[in-house]
Amino acid sequence: IQWEKQVRNSAQIHRSGGMSVLVTGAAGFVGTHVSLALKKRGDGVVGLDNFNNYYDPSLKRARKSLLNSHGVLVVEGDLNDGKLLAKLFDVVAFTHVMHLAAQAGVRYAMENPNSYVHSNIAGLVSLLEVCKSANPQPAIVWASSSSVYGLNDKVPFSEADRTDQPASLYAATKKAGEEITHTYNHIYGLSITGLRFFTVYGPWGRPDMAYFSFTRNILQGKPITIYRGKNRADLARDFTYIDDIVKGCLGSLDTSGKSTGTGGKKKGNAPYRIFNLGNTSPVKVPVLVNILERHLKVKAKRNIVDMPGNGDVPFTHANISHAQREFGYKPTTDLQTGLKKFVRWYLSYYGYNNRKGLQ
Ligand code: NAD
Repeated sequence: IQWEKQVRNSAQIHRSGGMSVLVTGAAGFVGTHVSLALKKRGDGVVGLDNFNNYYDPSLKRARKSLLNSHGVLVVEGDLNDGKLLAKLFDVVAFTHVMHLAAQAGVRYAMENPNSYVHSNIAGLVSLLEVCKSANPQPAIVWASSSSVYGLNDKVPFSEADRTDQPASLYAATKKAGEEITHTYNHIYGLSITGLRFFTVYGPWGRPDMAYFSFTRNILQGKPITIYRGKNRADLARDFTYIDDIVKGCLGSLDTSGKSTGTGGKKKGNAPYRIFNLGNTSPVKVPVLVNILERHLKVKAKRNIVDMPGNGDVPFTHANISHAQREFGYKPTTDLQTGLKKFVRWYLSYYGYNNRKGLQ
């Protein structure tokens, strides 16, 4: 009873026309920011996360405390626990699901392929099964990835471009997710929006990503490994600041339309949409390092090696005109400004603020 009350409180809507959203992966990087933004504007939010140890679980716990202090409950559980999901839908008639839980990371797939199948395939199906039978059915917005463009080298990437050459198991499971969600849209009338995020960075970010681990190593005086591609070409990424991604997530939730099924049966046509959410201005990785050095006021020890062919692609670049047309998506933070905010957070979170020479 106590648990149900907590869930209901967290799902409470505080604005007219607001939504109640189940955010999966809420203790993750993007999930934390999206949950806070929804709560701030008066929507009801309940989080779900399994707090796995892919990266430092204490960072996930700290994000959870932050969310708790803003009135967002994060339920601890796995996507594959259908009973728990069904119980959540019994307690709250969620209007939307923001599905961000996944096994992220490209290289880790070579170490632990099953975790990608567990979270990104089986976990996704488990969630969709519960959503399809919920009454009312929620509209679903979920995180795909720019990695689905794989070995395609025609840039910028548009949503209609080919995605049949994934370069990693991670990318393959995201691509499979796009196809799995399509069948649930087609058969059961679930409203589906897939968001292809392009390299998201910012405060409370992911320690496994380059900008984060570079910062850690630079501060600790350790070398950083910079990959370069064919013919010694620098790798480049369309780095996208977290606040811009959050705006894209909220914009797509607001325009997602309704699911049209009831009790697992389709009635009308529900939307199936895919959007790129990027920054449209790729930056070479060595330039990212220069910016970090300036913000940290410490020189990096560069170790430049050829890309080992472990799932990384040479460059990414988003065409965002579809999201721009549909919900006015327009990124406003450049890498210089965004990294400044990240570094400020990093120094404060890891207690560097009193160190000489740093601010
Ligand atoms: P993250 O790893 O910080 O967040 C994912 C969260 O999901 C984690 O807290 C994890 O504990 C949780 N989770 C994983 N498997 C789960 C399961 N089976 N059940 C319950 N919880 C589970 O990653 P993020 O950077 O916040 O990414 C959010 C989403 O966006 C992911 O789907 C990711 O694949 C996608 N994405 C991220 C980026 C990026 O640059 N950050 C780029 C493209 C796509």
